[in-house]
Amino acid sequence: MDKNLKEHLMSYLLGRLSCQDVAEIITEYLEGAMSLSNRIRFHMHLGMCRDCRNYLEQMKATVQTLGKLPPEPISPHVREELLRRFQHWKKG
Ligand SMILES: [Zn+2]
Repeated sequence: MDKNLKEHLMSYLLGRLSCQDVAEIITEYLEGAMSLSNRIRFHMHLGMCRDCRNYLEQMKATVQTLGKLPPEPISPHVREELLRRFQHWKKG
């Protein structure tokens, strides 16, 4: 494959999702509602990003504790808290 094309493709696949994007679409993943293209980028990001793997484990544990996902999209307050912890993990 053309090197430039390959790099372009990789940046398309990998570059689209930031850690914050992952945090925002993680409930879709847990619900199995994520689109295929997002799922691919999601997995590729997780493959490279230990912080997001930790975050996913945390979310899975939350779902297990509650028995389900929070009933509505995570409230700004809770999301802020999660993102704050997430930032903390990144430092640790
Ligand atoms: Zn990440």
